[in-house]
Amino acid sequence: MTPGPNSLPTIAELDVEGKRVIVRCDLNVPLADGAITDDLRIRAAVPTLRALLDRGARLAVCSHLGRPKGKVVEELRLASVGVRLAELLGRDLTETRDVVGEEAAMACESDVPVVLLENLRFEPGEEANDPAFADELASLGDAYVNDAFGASHRAHASIVALPRRLPCAVGYLLADEVTQLERLLHDVERPYVAVLGGIKVSDKLDVVGNLLEVVDAMCVGGAMAFTLLVAKGQKVGRSLVEDDRVEDVKEMLQRAASKNVAIHLPVDVVAAESPEPGAAHKTVSLSRIRDRMGVDIGPKSAKRFSEVIAAAKTVLWNGPMGIFEIEEYAHGTKAVATAIAEATRAGAFTVAGGGDSAAALNELGMTDAVSHLSTGGGASLELLEGRDLPGIRALRDAGRRNQ
Ligand code: ADP
Ligand code: MG
Repeated sequence: MTPGPNSLPTIAELDVEGKRVIVRCDLNVPLADGAITDDLRIRAAVPTLRALLDRGARLAVCSHLGRPKGKVVEELRLASVGVRLAELLGRDLTETRDVVGEEAAMACESDVPVVLLENLRFEPGEEANDPAFADELASLGDAYVNDAFGASHRAHASIVALPRRLPCAVGYLLADEVTQLERLLHDVERPYVAVLGGIKVSDKLDVVGNLLEVVDAMCVGGAMAFTLLVAKGQKVGRSLVEDDRVEDVKEMLQRAASKNVAIHLPVDVVAAESPEPGAAHKTVSLSRIRDRMGVDIGPKSAKRFSEVIAAAKTVLWNGPMGIFEIEEYAHGTKAVATAIAEATRAGAFTVAGGGDSAAALNELGMTDAVSHLSTGGGASLELLEGRDLPGIRALRDAGRRNQ
C-alpha cells in the first residue's frame, strides 16, 4: 500500500475490522426533478466503501446534498442517492431519517453492514462546525475516513471536527485527487496549457494568479473571457463583464506578459440577442459583436485553442467555453473537449475540474477523455491556488498526533 499524499494516515493503517467506520463521502450529485443526472460522484465513492467492507468494517456513510441550510428539505433527502449507491455497491443499505439521534444511533449500533445517514446539511451544526453536533456524529462510529474531496475545502463538522475525535484515514478518492492535482503544480511536462472558462472571472482570479507561475499558456473562453477582453480595451457589447474586476485583470495580464505566459482570447464569438434558447444568434468576429451578447467562442477561436491544446503535454481544463446547456452554444465547449481528448490519446496528462465542466463532459459522453476528471469544483480550484484544504490539514494533524 502506497502512503497517502502529504503523509496522510491511510486506510491500511486503520484498524477497521468489526468497527463501525464513519465515511464522509461527497455524494452531492446534480438532480433534476428528483432524478440524478450525473452519478460520477457516487461511482467515485465506491472503491473506498468496498475496501472497508472487504476488511470487515461496518459503515456509516454520510454526505451533504444541495444547500438545505440547516433544515430538513424533503427534496434533498439522500433517498435517491441511497438507491444508486446500493446498486453500485451491490448491497442493501439502511437509510436513517435523521443525521444523528436515537434512530441513527440504533442503526449504527446494529450489525447492518451499511448505514446511510441523512443529508448532513439538514443539521445547522454541520456547516457551523458546532462541537456538540460533531460529538454526536462522532459517537455513531469507532473510526473515520474522509473521502469527500469535493467538500474538503469546507471547515464543516464532518470534515474537520471528526478527525480530532476518532482514529482516522484518508479515502482512496481523496488521496487520488490530491496526487493527481498536485501533479499540475510541480514537475509538469511542458508545454503546460490551462483552458479556462465558465461564468465568473472573480471565482477564478486566484487560481489564475497561481497558475501564471506554472503554465506556458492559457486559453480563456466562456463569459470569463469578456472581462479580459474589456481589460485589453475591446468592446464586448452586452456580454457578461465584471466591471469591478477589470483593474485586477489588467494587473494579471501584465504579470502574464512579464512571465511570458501567452494568453489566448476569443477572436470570434457566437453573438446572441439574449441568452435564451431559440434567440436570434450568429457567429461574428469580435469587432462586430455590436450590442449583442457573446454566448460561445466562435470556430476560429475554437480552432486556435485546439491547436494550442494539441501542442501541449499537460492540460488543465476548468469551465465551459459558452452556455453549453443550450445546444447551439455548446460547439466551443465540444471543440475544446475533443482537442483535449486527442491530446490525452497522444500522451498528454490532462485534467478537467469544475462541476459544470464535468457535466459538459458527461453530456458529451466524454468522461473518459481526460487522464483525470476531478470530482471537486471549488476544492480542486483551491488546491490549485496552492491552499491547504481544511479537511486535508485536519487529517494530516490527526496523523501527526498518532505518531
Ligand atoms: P465550472 O463549474 O466548470 O467551474 P462555472 O460554474 O464557472 O464552471 O461556469 C459554468 C457556467 O458558465 C455555465 O452555466 C455556462 O452556461 C456559463 N457560461 C459560459 N460561458 C458563458 C457566456 N459566454 N455567457 C454566459 N454564461 C456563460
Ligand atoms: Mg459551476
